[in-house]
Amino acid sequence: MPHILLIEDNPENLDLMSYLLRAFGHFVTTATNGADGLRVASEQRPELILCDIHMPGMSGVDVARQLKGNPELASIPLVAVTAYAMVGDREQILASGFDAYLSKPIEPENFVSQIEASLRKGDESMARAVPLSSAESKRSNL
Ligand code: MN
Repeated sequence: MPHILLIEDNPENLDLMSYLLRAFGHFVTTATNGADGLRVASEQRPELILCDIHMPGMSGVDVARQLKGNPELASIPLVAVTAYAMVGDREQILASGFDAYLSKPIEPENFVSQIEASLRKGDESMARAVPLSSAESKRSNL
């Protein structure tokens, strides 16, 4: 059973994502801030990490830089889950080390299949161009 770590400071989002993933048989652990997320990642070595960007203290960008700067953790696929969607932000998110980007609000009917696609791509070091969301199409409207 794939182990997925969720790092998210918003309790409602965390509950919804956990519920959906567990309902489809995934083993989920959670952290509500970046420092705890890094500690759990190091101790438990999940198969996939989903991480919010806007969090008090350590942002998701900081989490990504630390994870991808650690040779023991760098290979874990890392997906940003965020409403952060201004011009240039997606590029900044990917540049900081995230392998893919999923925009909020999450779509409950699509969320698990989007995440499972990220898991499958983990072995081939997840293409950076993976359009996990409508971020691209929204961007073209800006
Ligand atoms: Mn947040």
